[in-house]
Amino acid sequence: RKARAKASAHQICVTRDGQRIEVYGNVGSLNDALAATANGAEGSGLLRTEFLFLERDTPPDEDEQARQYQAIASALDGKPLIIRTLDVGGDKAAPYLPIPAEENPALGLRGVRVSLWRPHLLKTQIRAILRVRPAGQCKIMVPMIASLDELRAVRAVLDEAKRELGITDRVELGVMIETPAAAVTADLIAAEADFLSIGTNDLTQYVLAMDRGNPELAARIDALHPAVLRMIAQTCAGAARNHRWVGVCGGAASDLPAVPILLGLGVTELSATAAAVPEVKALVRSLDLEACRALAAQVLDLTSPEAVRDVANRFLAGV
Ligand code: PEP
Ligand code: MG
Repeated sequence: RKARAKASAHQICVTRDGQRIEVYGNVGSLNDALAATANGAEGSGLLRTEFLFLERDTPPDEDEQARQYQAIASALDGKPLIIRTLDVGGDKAAPYLPIPAEENPALGLRGVRVSLWRPHLLKTQIRAILRVRPAGQCKIMVPMIASLDELRAVRAVLDEAKRELGITDRVELGVMIETPAAAVTADLIAAEADFLSIGTNDLTQYVLAMDRGNPELAARIDALHPAVLRMIAQTCAGAARNHRWVGVCGGAASDLPAVPILLGLGVTELSATAAAVPEVKALVRSLDLEACRALAAQVLDLTSPEAVRDVANRFLAGV
């Protein structure tokens, strides 16, 4: 399968019954963007921008950010680039962001909460993103949304930045679905978001109430837990009602047994690690969406991630 995957890595991706699925790469540096492109990613569904902000005494200014985003956009050869706004928190501290000590950093000031706490930082980041050319290559994505108000507040900053720069074209603004609150209100959020992308790493942590960094729990923190899958199903249903697409940019997008389940639930974009892109693309081409839907319906009624993996692995052995 690996050799076949490499040979067809750069072709577009449709299932056997004709559903177009975009397979993107996650990026956290210029090198990642080059690796994703080399491996056949059709763009990037997640640029983690933290690498620009950590381990320094002052935040990067607008020019520096614009240069870095442009370099990554160019490395993707003009393919779509979804740039996530800063996702730092109490556990990923920067000296210029004096977040008060927190007992539960995962439940504290992080993601969009930090951006709205320091809106000038958000404005600078958005202005830098808006300067990337060609216009329209970049979309903006907001992490850790828990309510629609947060998206509205970010959109207000985006609108202000566009006015300042004299930009009248539409700029797509999407949200990450990685809190249970966002998943169960996805229908409300999708009414005002241009797209939804599920962060299965955090969503799993918050749905199962298990710290994603706790080695004692690592074996049980599985996005294929039926509780997480039901949240993903609800997200897809809410998005579909508003004619919005849903992607997955968490680790599940790189996990082969998860792929047919995600497609069966209604996901149409997968942003995987660069290394996983060729195999994910090859797998998608071998799948039948109708069969994926039946698989998804079946696993939603199982009671453990182990049971889901069993069924998914048997399914994969048959494709
Ligand atoms: C996620 O939570 O699934 C995600 C993609 O974001 P990060 O891993 O950067 O928190
Ligand atoms: Mg996350």
